[in-house]
Amino acid sequence: MKEEAPLHSSFNPRHRAYQLLYHATHPLRRSAFISTLTPNTPSCACCDRRWADVEAPFQAIEYRYGKNGETEYVCLSCYTPRIASQEMLGLERLNVTGNTRTPIYGKLGMLVGSGGIITPKAELYLTLPPKLFEKYRQGEWGQQSRLSTEKPLTRLLALLAQGELDPISEGFVYIENWGRKVDGLMRHLTPTTSLHELWCNSESGVSALDLHAMIMTAKQLSEQGLTVQADRITFWKPILDAAQGQRDDKAFAEWLEKVPKPESLLQTLPADPFDRLKLPAVLGAIMPHLQALLPYCRPLAVETNPAPQRDATPDTQRQGTLF
Ligand SMILES: [Zn+2]
Repeated sequence: MKEEAPLHSSFNPRHRAYQLLYHATHPLRRSAFISTLTPNTPSCACCDRRWADVEAPFQAIEYRYGKNGETEYVCLSCYTPRIASQEMLGLERLNVTGNTRTPIYGKLGMLVGSGGIITPKAELYLTLPPKLFEKYRQGEWGQQSRLSTEKPLTRLLALLAQGELDPISEGFVYIENWGRKVDGLMRHLTPTTSLHELWCNSESGVSALDLHAMIMTAKQLSEQGLTVQADRITFWKPILDAAQGQRDDKAFAEWLEKVPKPESLLQTLPADPFDRLKLPAVLGAIMPHLQALLPYCRPLAVETNPAPQRDATPDTQRQGTLF
């Protein structure tokens, strides 16, 4: 099949994630038999991008949900996680019907509980639960050391610390869970171009995490001698409770006593309550790489280009209102 759309074609944040996935998965399509047709619909039924804009323009795959489902036309990028690959992944299971044994091979779109990272150079890394890792380690991706059993965020931070995601502004793709609902994953596949918004893609859609604030929080903890507390739920409990709308003034007052410079720490916390709920897990993953990650969090733009003072309330009081 003809591969089109060069990797460095005109930068469009919306298309970038699809372009990276398409290029990173070229070997999947190379050995698969895929019959394409010229669609008579205006756009891909999954990502809804116009046929002229997708990575393989005007090439559609006929797809049917279930035996009686309606026929839909999807672009090659959206179809790719549905491609079974003996070569790149390996045997998923044998389907036994009577005396017939049919081999079923692995697909990206069936990697339940698995993550993925696609670097700005379109290099793919997969994180798998141990059982899937054992299943697919003999496949080509396994042989290329692209599979690991870490948590997806742990792998992402290691790659970031190694410089594999440079330059971030060119975009990378972070998949928190491939899951088995390809549609849900591919419909809004979103690239990350700034650590202020790490877009976490999964089968249930996409959400943002302020990784920049998390790294700055880790820095504060380290500077205040609180590194060992980073991943402890007991340490963060008053903050976690407040993020869930269960403010406990007494517990919060005790927490303030435990922190040498509470105002500095409170200032760096991510603003979003959903992010705050992830503090122990994310900080635990950041800490081992903190020194290598700090260069990605240079002083905020406001320091070089001072923003007007919005209010004169002391930080301690203002932050206090968040709880
Ligand atoms: Zn599509």
